[in-house]
Order: sequence, then C-alpha cells, then structure tokens
Amino acid sequence: MNFDLTEEHRMVQSSAREFAQTELLPGVIERDTAQEFPNELVKKMGDQGFMAVMVDPQYGGGGMDTLSYVLIMEELSKIDASASVMVSVNNSLVCYGLQEYGTEEQKQKYLPKIAAGDYTGAFCLSEPEAGSDATSQQTTAVDKGDHYILNGTKNWITNGGRSGVYLVMAQTDRAKQHRGINCLCVERGTPGFQIGKKEDKLGIRGSDTHTLMFSDVKVPKSNRIGEDGFGFKFAMKTLDGGRIGIAAQALGIAAGAYELALKYSKERKTFGKEIAQHQAIQFKLADMATKIEAARLLVYKAAAEKDAHLPYGLSAAMAKLYASKVAMDVTAEAIQVHGGYGYVKEFHVERLYRDAKITEIYEGTSEIQRMVIARHVLGM
Ligand SMILES: Cc1cc2nc3c(=O)[nH]c(=O)nc-3n(C[C@H](O)[C@H](O)[C@H](O)COP(=O)(O)OP(=O)(O)OC[C@H]3O[C@@H](n4cnc5c(N)ncnc54)[C@H](O)[C@@H]3O)c2cc1C
Repeated sequence: MNFDLTEEHRMVQSSAREFAQTELLPGVIERDTAQEFPNELVKKMGDQGFMAVMVDPQYGGGGMDTLSYVLIMEELSKIDASASVMVSVNNSLVCYGLQEYGTEEQKQKYLPKIAAGDYTGAFCLSEPEAGSDATSQQTTAVDKGDHYILNGTKNWITNGGRSGVYLVMAQTDRAKQHRGINCLCVERGTPGFQIGKKEDKLGIRGSDTHTLMFSDVKVPKSNRIGEDGFGFKFAMKTLDGGRIGIAAQALGIAAGAYELALKYSKERKTFGKEIAQHQAIQFKLADMATKIEAARLLVYKAAAEKDAHLPYGLSAAMAKLYASKVAMDVTAEAIQVHGGYGYVKEFHVERLYRDAKITEIYEGTSEIQRMVIARHVLGM
C-alpha cells in the first residue's frame, strides 16, 4: 500500500491550487452574491484541462486518471464549489457517459467542445416527481421510427442555462419500467426545448440550476446513448463515478474551511494570546484535521479502485456519505473558530458552510448512499 502521490499527481494538484488562487478566488464572493459565473472563466477552466480531465486526448481531453480528477476537484472546491460543480457534472456525468457509452459520432461532436470549455454539458435525470426515486420518470420519449418525440420537465439541472448538450433520461416503454428508459443527447436550441427558471439557492450560488421543459422535441435516434432501454443503467453507472467527484468536492470544501480556520487561529488574539493557544480551539483543529484525513483516504481509495477497474460503487457511496458529513461538521466549526468574523462573507467560511449542504443532497442524498451501502454489506 502506497499513500504517496506521484510526481505527476503533485503537479496536477499544484496547478489546480494555483488556478484556484489566481483565477477563482478573485470575485468568488461577488459571483456567489450575484449568482453568476462568467463564460470566460468556464473557458479558462477548459484551457487548463479541467473540463474533460479523463477524456481521451483524441477528443481534446486530458487523458488523466480519476485520482487526478479528484485532486483537481479538491483544490477548486477549497475556493469555489460553484466552479467545481460545473467541473464535476462535465467530467463525471457528461464526459464519462459519452466516452464510455456514446457512439463515435456523439463523441466527436460533443467532447472536444466540452473539453475546450466552449460550452458545458448537463445531465438531466431529476424531475418534479422523480428525485431519489429516479425510476419514476414522467418525461416520455415516444419512438417514431428514426426519431423520438420528447415531452416532459426536468428539475434542478446543473449547467442548465449554459450547456450545449443535455443528456436527458426519458421513458420510452412504461411497461418495461426502468428497462424502458432511454438517454438522449438534446442540443441547445432544438425546437420545443425551453430553459426555464433559474433557482435561487442556499449555496453553490455561482452555478446555475434550472428547470428544463420539453414540448414535442424531435430527437434523432442517432442521439440515443446505448441500446434501446439502456438509459437507467447509464444513469446509475455514471452516478457511481459522479459520487467520487462530489465526495472530492465535499473534501475540498472541508479542507478549504479548515485551512482558513487554522490560519485565523494563529492571527486572532484573545485573553493576551493567539486563540490557537487555547486548548478548546486546538481540539477543534485536531478533530477537523482528523476527519478531513479520513475523508481523503476514502475518496482517494474510491478513485484508485475506479482507476484499477475494480468495483467501486461501495467505496464511492461511503466516500460521498462520509465526506459530505465532514464538510458539514468542519465548515460549522470553521465558523466557530472565526467567531463573529466567520458569520460574514468577507472571511469566506460562511460561503463554504452554505456550499457544504448540497453535497449531502445531489447525486444521491445521504439516505440513498446509506441504502446503497446497506445493500452491499447485506449482500442484497
Ligand atoms: C443545486 C442542485 C443541483 C442539482 N443538479 C442536478 C443535475 O444536474 N441533474 C439531475 O438530474 N439532478 C440534479 N439535482 C437533483 C438532486 O439529485 C435531487 O434533488 C436529489 O436526488 C434528491 O431528490 P429530491 O430533491 O426529489 O428529494 P426526494 O427524493 O423527494 O427526497 C426527500 C427526502 O426523503 C429522503 N428519501 C427519499 N426516499 C427515501 C427512502 N427510500 N428511504 C429513506 N429516505 C428517503 C431523501 O433522502 C430526502 O431526505 C440537483 C439538486 C440540487 C438541489
């Protein structure tokens, strides 16, 4: 067992850290307040290779491994979880899904543009009545021979307002239940496809989350991913890897808050000494550091298993469940270490605290992760 990062991994980590400091930190508070994220910054992330880390270089990707992706997610999330969720959806769900299961035509059409940061991709599974219970899809894709007619509404779609391609899950044959679901690539601007309202959120406010409406949208059959009825399996397989990305995001949010608390504890003085000299603060820092390290080991292990082509669903669920709880705990304690200063925007920890919560919700809530873990440990 070797816990060291390779020289290559350390380089990836330090370039992501530098990008986060120089490009994401300036304006992060303003972007959070305004609920905006400029396209130029998305493009810069594309130029850095963050948008398609694991994609084959022949499609413009970085050709790197999952651990590299995790390191990038961790570093970006320390500063700006709105940026990292865009990176996560692009990499784990859209790029992975297209590269692994898409046709050659689909890969050539979409991957280079996503990789370059020309546009993002979106993954559209959730609906008003289908969140945790993703099998109860109400969106329909009626088979019309050489094309489908798509009707329905998708909720909570990350990158919903800015994407060029949307991977949309829809029910084709209700009698077959989840085996009758398909995944279709729907391009922005297709007649009948409307981008609905942008959500006003607690955290990750820079990232755009939209409702999407499909009304008699004609989608060529060549836009379907995989065989007829593969859509639900496609969604579950991509989400397994997605959980590693969100676990890395949670880890980064926790680590970012901890680093700020550690620094502040050596600057702030009360009762004639730095607060780091008070044992109560030392114990908080000790607990934070321990939890973060445990989360990191779980996340890196899940990434290593995926890279080794081993089953990784259990590790990914454990990593997400644990890292998201650590993000909640550590960000709350980081505010406590900052006292009143932690409660205002200028010191960044209040944003990280708000950003942490979503990691317990999307790509499977903590309750769903526990169900996945229980199924594995019980052999069900
Ligand atoms: C900011 C944001 C971005 C998102 N981005 C995307 C995206 O890009 N694409 C996408 O498809 N979706 C996205 N989602 C949707 C997200 O994945 C869902 O919100 C999530 O899966 C939960 O579904 P729900 O909101 O319908 O909650 P529900 O499924 O209604 O759950 C409500 C509560 O009940 C619990 N619960 C449900 N079923 C069970 C059960 N069987 N046992 C125990 N507890 C249960 C849940 O854990 C939760 O606590 C996003 C959501 C948000 C908020």
